[in-house]
Amino acid sequence: MAVTRMHNTLSKSHVMADRMATVNRLEEVVSTSDEFDQVVSQALPILLDRATGYTKRFLRETGQWNDDIEHEKFALRWGSEYLERFLVYGRSEVPCRPLFLFDSLVAKQHSKPEPFCYHPDLLRPLGRFLDGLVARAVVSRDALIALYHHSYGWGAGDVIAVTGLNGLESQRIYKNFRRWRESGWQRTMDEVGLTKAELAELEQQRQRQRFNSEAERLIRVAQAHYRKSEPDHYPCLSRSQWGDMFAQGYGCDYRIWHLALCLDCMQTAWGLGSSGSLTGEKPRLELQVRP
Ligand SMILES: [Zn+2]
Repeated sequence: MAVTRMHNTLSKSHVMADRMATVNRLEEVVSTSDEFDQVVSQALPILLDRATGYTKRFLRETGQWNDDIEHEKFALRWGSEYLERFLVYGRSEVPCRPLFLFDSLVAKQHSKPEPFCYHPDLLRPLGRFLDGLVARAVVSRDALIALYHHSYGWGAGDVIAVTGLNGLESQRIYKNFRRWRESGWQRTMDEVGLTKAELAELEQQRQRQRFNSEAERLIRVAQAHYRKSEPDHYPCLSRSQWGDMFAQGYGCDYRIWHLALCLDCMQTAWGLGSSGSLTGEKPRLELQVRP
């Protein structure tokens, strides 16, 4: 027992010493982007802790904090968002002292008048639902396709018509829908931490008059935010540019991806994909809670 305990104490103090050394290294100047990558990659857990800690403190100071798992997860998610930004941005800022650069990046985010991550509505069930859905859509094709259903209430056939897909791509859309219904939706709701009661409450709220306009405001914020992860060559297009793409049948991924994540382009490109069969009114957001 005594030996084990001593061993534990020793390895604990090793860990502490390692941690101190890593932090010290982060405070020193790095002069090349390779050196930046190397120093930072050894310090990811420390930086994540730091960003999450700052985020919690910010939420506490602005009266938006609760001691529960949802808020913990929220702070963790925004901590990793800051870390990701830092990894990209920091390389171009050498020579620098990584730790100070990191702290100033987080502080700058926190001093914005209304930074996305602290949009108070994003801590309410509707905001968490939309944020979770769109966040998932940028990493999961099933969730991306499901976004058409959740935004407009469409089925697979509608998605195929609106995006102007051909046979092979169409088959994939049916599979995306099926997997989302079978497991994807539930898994995403679990990840977001939405309870059965909260989901039922959201369903109730759909009856309210202002529900869809509130949802539209929030989904625009989320779409604009998460679209930043899209390939650089996927910007918004004019109707004639969309028209060319549809008519000539290229840019399949572009259409699927961008139209799911951009309400404005969806309206711009409305009707181009179906050779004239979708002539009704332009689609408005009609939020669906269930898959
Ligand atoms: Zn767009």
